[in-house]
Amino acid sequence: MLDHELLELVSSLVCILRDGDVIFLNQAGAKLLGLVDQNDALGAAFVEFVESDYRFLVEAGWELLAEEDFLPLKLLRRDSTLFEAEIRVRPVPGPDPLFLVEARDISKFVRSAAALREREERLQGVLSSVAEGIITVDERGIIESANPAVDRMFGHAKGKLVGQHISTLMGAEMREQHNDMFARYLAGASKLMGRSVESIGYRADGSSFPMEISVSELRYGKGRLFTGVLRDISERKESEDRIKRLAHHDTLTGLPNRNLLNDRISHALARVRRHGGRMALLYVDLDKFKPINDTLGHEAGDAVLREVALRLNHCIRSSDTVSRVGGDEFVVVVEEIGRPGEAAMVARKIIDTLATPIYYHEHACQVGASIGIAVFPDDGNTMDEVCKAADVAMYRVKHSGRNGFCFYSGTVPTEEIDFADEPAAAQLN
Ligand code: GH3
Ligand code: MG
Repeated sequence: MLDHELLELVSSLVCILRDGDVIFLNQAGAKLLGLVDQNDALGAAFVEFVESDYRFLVEAGWELLAEEDFLPLKLLRRDSTLFEAEIRVRPVPGPDPLFLVEARDISKFVRSAAALREREERLQGVLSSVAEGIITVDERGIIESANPAVDRMFGHAKGKLVGQHISTLMGAEMREQHNDMFARYLAGASKLMGRSVESIGYRADGSSFPMEISVSELRYGKGRLFTGVLRDISERKESEDRIKRLAHHDTLTGLPNRNLLNDRISHALARVRRHGGRMALLYVDLDKFKPINDTLGHEAGDAVLREVALRLNHCIRSSDTVSRVGGDEFVVVVEEIGRPGEAAMVARKIIDTLATPIYYHEHACQVGASIGIAVFPDDGNTMDEVCKAADVAMYRVKHSGRNGFCFYSGTVPTEEIDFADEPAAAQLN
């Protein structure tokens, strides 16, 4: 026989049913169901306390419910208000077909679970909407989560990165560096955390892009996770490169401008000072360029300058530099010449290449070049001195009839100038 007094000690609803009708309800149950007295429920069908949408469960039979563990459903209070409950049904041992029903109010849990779900959804919403890639990685380097920006950035299908090693996102050469850095960090030797570093990301299709990454550590319990914020910096890099290019190159011809030229000259001078030898500077001013502007227009002049730039580039070795330093003025740095005659050969090539007219639409444009050559260390000890010397030599050519070249110091013996196909007849020297 059941000891009802014991059932009164239970804090949740306890109820005994015969043929689905309440034959006992403890006080806690009466309170839960909003009854004034626990006896008010006696004789009532328990199904009356079950919200209509859930009644089918009860109607399936108490025997079936008794096979289940805890079941969530909604119960009705006497005043018709609803609450979330969890019930458990068990047959009462004995000759009578009785069932014992336990029920707990789980509204609070349901509410906090819903709030938790809502917070989680909100967090996911934020993670989905940010442009930065946010990734979490465990201590083994396994990706634990990645927001949609990471999938987009690296070209992976949604969620596919989870469970993979972080090295999936790196090129082979970065993997070793990363593993090394990670091991040093775990050993407490690296100060990587919190700093933004530039790196290279590898997409699923094998292409790569520059990225900025900042990693922070997230400790939970005994474990720790690493959170990486990843940013694709391709655009920033491109504009930095563009700015660098603009700062160092002439926009019309794409040739190095005076800034870059000065840099190249000072490097070349340093090399010669260190290792000996010579370098030459050719100052090139086009002859009769202005009439092209005057007769065919500035556009034609621009086109001619662009073509001259291309042709000058073909006259030099890859280690040499052609730069545009003014309207129709160019400077060529010829590095590591064995003897001054080698600079004369470059000058000769330039004059020859410009002998072929440049076509602007159907108009043949003819320009020549006056070239002054100065040699380091023969004609000067500093960049300024060598540049001035080349300029002076160029003016000498201008005043002597144009379209030729001239060394600053007249001391270069003519026999040093050794043209393969033609004597130096057209040149001043
Ligand atoms: P010279 O034979 O004495 O060198 O005379 P030139 O006709 O070549 O003319 P000069 O060297 O005295 O002057 C160069 C001209 O180039 C002056 C200017 O009008 C023109 N110029 C300068 N910059 C540009 C440019 O960017 N585009 C074009 N189309 N013309 C330019
Ligand atoms: Mg000129």
